[in-house]
Amino acid sequence: MSRLLIRNGRVIDPSRGWDEVSNVLVEDDRIAAVAPALEAGDAQVIDASGLVVAPGFIDMHVHLREPGLEHAETIESGSRAAAAGGFTSICPMPNTIPVNDNAPVTSFMVERARRFAIVNVFPVGAITKDSAGEQLADIGAMKEAGAVAHSDDGPPVMNSAATSTKASSRAASACAAFPPVRKT
Ligand SMILES: [Zn+2]
Repeated sequence: MSRLLIRNGRVIDPSRGWDEVSNVLVEDDRIAAVAPALEAGDAQVIDASGLVVAPGFIDMHVHLREPGLEHAETIESGSRAAAAGGFTSICPMPNTIPVNDNAPVTSFMVERARRFAIVNVFPVGAITKDSAGEQLADIGAMKEAGAVAHSDDGPPVMNSAATSTKASSRAASACAAFPPVRKT
């Protein structure tokens, strides 16, 4: 069993009302104990004095440059940047090249993330084709491929027909047809 003791950090966990200097013992990648006094034993020890120890952050709005601009950033390098900042789940916007407005692009991102990312990557699919604000994208297919939400990022949806009650309810029912994606 691998054991890791994170010692003397300021442990903050709003879900438990914790905000105190304490120790966190991790066994086989699971938190085994949080307490002011824990014996290190054979555990690897990290001194977190002066640092915050918290559950992984989630960023609902990031821009990864893969596919299309891999010279600037890849899903792998973006995931490493996220981890360095304490983020363990990120949701990349669809403004890639091509735009993530269809299932093959979503699947590509999910597969690249599965192989290379070191944090959870939950793609956000476009609402409209090419994020041009005119025609509703195939939201159901993207959802099935692993998109967890839909946005055109910065641009507004220009064509009211794309957001009409009928189109919106079609998109909503397409999303409702699939259960939420969960990664453990
Ligand atoms: Zn954005």
